[in-house]
Amino acid sequence: MTETLKGIAAGDGVAVAPAYLLVEPDLSFEKKSIADAEAEVARFDKAVAESQAELESIRKVAAESLGEEEAQVFDAHLMFLSDPEFTGQISAKIKSDAVNSEAALDEVAQNFITIFQNMTDNAYMKERAADVRDVSKRIMAHLLGKELPNLASIDHEVVLVAEDLTPSDTAQLNKKYVKGFVTDLGGRTAHSAIMARSLEIPAVVGTEKITTSVENGQMLIADGLDGVAIVEPSEEQVADYRKKGDDFAKQKAEWRKLKDEHEPSVTADGKHFTVAANIGTPDDLAGVLENGAEAVGLFRTEFLYMNSNDFPTEEDQFEAYKKVLEGMNGKQVIIRTMDIGGDKHLSYWDLPEEMNPFLGIRAIRLSLKNKEIFRTQLRALLRASAYGKLGIMFPMIGTLDELHQAKAVLAEEKDKLVKEGVKVGDDLQVGMMIEVPAAAVLADQFAKEVDFFSIGTNDLIQYTMAADRGNENVSYLYQPYNPSVLRLIKHTIDSAHKAGIWCGMCGEAAGDSIMFPILLSMGLDEYSMSATSILRIRNEMKKLSTEELASLADKATKESLTNEDNIELVKNLMADK
Ligand code: PEP
Ligand code: MG
Repeated sequence: MTETLKGIAAGDGVAVAPAYLLVEPDLSFEKKSIADAEAEVARFDKAVAESQAELESIRKVAAESLGEEEAQVFDAHLMFLSDPEFTGQISAKIKSDAVNSEAALDEVAQNFITIFQNMTDNAYMKERAADVRDVSKRIMAHLLGKELPNLASIDHEVVLVAEDLTPSDTAQLNKKYVKGFVTDLGGRTAHSAIMARSLEIPAVVGTEKITTSVENGQMLIADGLDGVAIVEPSEEQVADYRKKGDDFAKQKAEWRKLKDEHEPSVTADGKHFTVAANIGTPDDLAGVLENGAEAVGLFRTEFLYMNSNDFPTEEDQFEAYKKVLEGMNGKQVIIRTMDIGGDKHLSYWDLPEEMNPFLGIRAIRLSLKNKEIFRTQLRALLRASAYGKLGIMFPMIGTLDELHQAKAVLAEEKDKLVKEGVKVGDDLQVGMMIEVPAAAVLADQFAKEVDFFSIGTNDLIQYTMAADRGNENVSYLYQPYNPSVLRLIKHTIDSAHKAGIWCGMCGEAAGDSIMFPILLSMGLDEYSMSATSILRIRNEMKKLSTEELASLADKATKESLTNEDNIELVKNLMADK
């Protein structure tokens, strides 16, 4: 039966395809005594053989669709599966304890995991614990007759369904087959949603119950424009939504024409504002150039760390930063030091669990606590600065002391490099994100110490409103247009201008059609967004004269704020330039 779910629009476009559930099955089992040990060992061997065949096929699909490097993860699993030390111990246990395969597998796997996890001085061996977990899960699924979902094994068009997607799940999505995704959890500015936008995959998040509303293979519509998911749509709905998707694609093609005509980005009466792109890896550069971005306003370097099996070396990082700087051909590139923590984790960095990760050791806090890792990144950045126009940006600065510490480490590394005779760019800028309310309130003080600000509204909103950016239950409180947020933004822009520095925005609000005229009225200098939003925003900018801008901002304010007093407040903020 057709069911329509309302969620949050998180990735533009419309997808219509069968659902693929990325939901872990229940692998609980009962421990049982067995009478025929030989038959039980044969049952176990069969599950191992099936797991092996399945892994080989997943590896093959992954190599074809995602590339050899992604596929190599499965080699470690295959190797472990054929290790007689592991499987032999399980068979021996079935016989000696006369227990079922599930119980023997669970006990032996736990032992292996504990041994690997305790090898604290050997990062490689420690990581093997994850392999044991994956491999035993697969054998267990075969023993219990359940199917494990796997992103890498998808070989036909699907709409992915999951409780939530981690940024690393999103990084593994193959656009050829994954036409869209729908999740139970999440908000528009959760990192998986941001990545969906940069991949141009239609996405609906925060539906609360898609995983229990749809079954594998059922037809599913993901309308990422309006945040609607439809399970088992009628033929008419399929036709309507296909048309909606096609119309959106046509509109995008129209916008694309603007790329060459209207560079740089100007309003109808000739005012110029910089429209820049946010990227996660050097591979995103193609989209940046294709959409005619005038700068890279945010390079989220944590993805370099997340897409790797160990800390990227100084050399690896240098090459990545240099590639982006050279690719932008003299245009400004703002590279942010790593923002690990919160919802972004590294498999190889075992950090303590926190009750409130978004309020914990994240971003600059982590860098200042782990200075060697920070220094490696800064050296790579400083060396790369000779190859273009670089701005180094610190994330999550909340106090002047943090900024002073970060700048001091940067200055030390710069001195060392200069003494070593290494060339560092002369026009290097140093800036900070404004995403902690404390920094926004004190923007006048911070502005004296940096070359630029970039407002990170994704976090600024969540911290100002005390509403988790990825929690759909409080998404009603996650209000970009709330006067408290707008007042912080206005104060930040004014403080920057008073100190003679520029102020940009790299949070998702910079590419929001309602927010955009408000920001223009407030005098924001640079707008950095997913590359795919650039042409839409430039198209809107091109139509606006100063007067039209004021009336549009007025309209936007009325649409987004229901309370008369708040409307008045925002109007005053915009008028007071
Ligand atoms: C932000 O917080 O607005 C931002 C751009 O950083 P991130 O989304 O990576 O936290
Ligand atoms: Mg942030």
